Amino acid sequence: MLKCPNCQSKNLGKIGVNQYYCWNCFIELSVSNGMIYTHQVEEDGTLSSLDDLFDENDRTIHF
Ligand SMILES: [Zn+2]
Repeated sequence: MLKCPNCQSKNLGKIGVNQYYCWNCFIELSVSNGMIYTHQVEEDGTLSSLDDLFDENDRTIHF
């Protein structure tokens, strides 16, 4: 089960192929090769990466 690495919420909405949105903390998640990549949508619509904030282990999907 996919969890948000930021808030541990499972309240994720699918917004595209391998792309999810966390309704709890409002970040975008994308999944590739078993890793979760996190992005914050800025006010001007650009995406900034939040991956530096998380451990690699927190960003690995555990099934
Ligand atoms: Zn979240």
